[in-house]
Amino acid sequence: MTDALADRIDRLRDRIARAGRDPDTVTIVAVTKGFGLDTVEHALAAGLTELGENYAQDLRAKADALDSAQRDAVRWHFIGRLQTNKVRLIAPEVALWQSIDRPALAEEIAKHAPQAHVLVQVNTSGEEQKGGCRPDETERLVTRCRELGLTVRGLMCVGPAAAPDESRSAFRRLTTLADGLDLRERSMGMSDDLDIALDEGSTMIRIGTALFGRRPAPPGAHR
Ligand SMILES: *Cc1c(COP(=O)(O)O)cnc(C)c1O
Repeated sequence: MTDALADRIDRLRDRIARAGRDPDTVTIVAVTKGFGLDTVEHALAAGLTELGENYAQDLRAKADALDSAQRDAVRWHFIGRLQTNKVRLIAPEVALWQSIDRPALAEEIAKHAPQAHVLVQVNTSGEEQKGGCRPDETERLVTRCRELGLTVRGLMCVGPAAAPDESRSAFRRLTTLADGLDLRERSMGMSDDLDIALDEGSTMIRIGTALFGRRPAPPGAHR
């Protein structure tokens, strides 16, 4: 599997280059949600060290199963909806909290992981079921995070599942917000919409399927 993975990483870097971007300036977050520990180990062996999970228990279980060299190498990104009562479980492991969508969550993170690095997640597509704060709440939430001593590295959004045109405008909205707040990181783009996201200025793509194939189980299913 490691060789197939190496090929997929090469192809992903080609896609980044074809979008007119320097692959060395775009962070690939390899999303291991729904996959087992073997996938995490293959990813690390292939040089993918920024790993994304969206269930706290799964992140905890995988982090606990790594050996000390792997633990030193990995940088976990939390990318899912997060209940405040789960923050404590994963606080020592998370390198970047990507899904800060409300003040209460920021407060809990500041309590258990002082000075943590975060992204504020914004619902730029306006879909009701999507996570993220409203675009007009972004600045206040960024300010609140800073008051709490958190380092806000940028913004994150999940593109609409619908038409590419809508993805483009949702990504453009995030870039405009990040520009206005002078925030560097724009975490946007998944396996199906990464080309558009890169074209719209993504600095961080979150990729599961295009690296590891179809997820064997819904994330969290093996808890
Ligand atoms: C699952 C997930 C991804 C990765 O999705 P793929 O389509 O498999 O690349 C990225 N971001 C978030 C927030 C996710 O939940």
